[in-house]
Amino acid sequence: MAERCYLDWNATTPLRVEAVEALQEALAVIGNPSSVHAEGRAARRLIERAREQVAELVAARPADVFFTSGGTEANMVALTPAIETAAEKRPRQRLLMSAIEHSSVRAGGRFARAAIEDVPVDAAGCIDLAALTEAVAKTPRPLVSLMLANNETGVIQPVAAAAEVAHAAGGLIHVDAVQAAGRVPCALGALGADLMTLSAHKIGGPKGVGALVRGSEDIHIADPLIRGGGQERGMRAGTENVAGIAAFGAAAAAAHSRFAAEAARLQALRDTLEQGLKAISPGLVVFGDAAARVPNTTLFALEGVKAETAVIAFDLEGVAVSSGAACSSGKVQPSHVLAAMGVSPALQRGGVRVSLGWTTTAADVERCLGAWRKLASALSKGQRGIAA
Ligand code: PLP
Repeated sequence: MAERCYLDWNATTPLRVEAVEALQEALAVIGNPSSVHAEGRAARRLIERAREQVAELVAARPADVFFTSGGTEANMVALTPAIETAAEKRPRQRLLMSAIEHSSVRAGGRFARAAIEDVPVDAAGCIDLAALTEAVAKTPRPLVSLMLANNETGVIQPVAAAAEVAHAAGGLIHVDAVQAAGRVPCALGALGADLMTLSAHKIGGPKGVGALVRGSEDIHIADPLIRGGGQERGMRAGTENVAGIAAFGAAAAAAHSRFAAEAARLQALRDTLEQGLKAISPGLVVFGDAAARVPNTTLFALEGVKAETAVIAFDLEGVAVSSGAACSSGKVQPSHVLAAMGVSPALQRGGVRVSLGWTTTAADVERCLGAWRKLASALSKGQRGIAA
């Protein structure tokens, strides 16, 4: 069988070599990090080293990093009325979020449905800051949740400006940086983020581990999601996933040291891919290309081509891509992101997402283009079996 070509890095990434090494080393450490003996202290050292590495990726203090079971859990922990600051302990009444957040944010954490308000995005896929300002004006001390990069389009959100808007109203801002970390700068201070979500498996670490990072020691979550032992300083009970956390740290360090070089290379490959796709199919639409995007992501559609049809056609050619939208039992639902951008219902089901990563080469892009050329030519020959 010909080698596969993996172009679905926004779904998950392969483990980085450094993460594999850290994982193997940590698996050999038998201690419980809460134990005081030498074995326990060895496990503790691995966790604290990883805490420093993750903190460095987002220019935070290690003490402000809390490990979780992934991005979903970190979002769930962050989105609570019970976020206190040193100065203010009253619960927050409302959660404002962009209409294009990941489902783990859209679920609203511990806020009641009625307390959640969507803020629209423009046609380029960027939050409407005027609408956010208006919503904030009606909502004293809101919690705002805004992702740094969208998982479908890759569009980068104006987080620093949104943070200013939230802070001016006594609010706080949570930033889901799962798709941005390792791809664009994510310094918490520069973004004005009060809380930030990270996930290991999008940056070359293992699945099932992530972190919630605070912008300052002033921020306190008064109702941790998982209570029990005092692990993670009371923020997340349960014996730590030592090996997963150690590998997350190693992946964060590798991502941090290489992302500038990787970004330029990936953007060039992504641009070549988009130009090639448009040359093959002049009617093809690339979503979000009027805005700044993370360098590795493209989401496109061609009228008449269903996303699931395209994804299967790519897969048969050995190329792994995904539909931008949620997919349940193989059936692609209309994308809430494309709907929020005002894309026509026909195209909302057609988004095909190709996402690249550090092992992606020009040959992979060529192969992807070859698969699309084959599909497009079958379509133009009227082979309805693969057309919508
Ligand atoms: N947030 C965004 C933007 C994501 O893309 C994802 C995963 O796809 C998550 C959160 C959830 O992260 P995890 O898979 O670690 O639970």
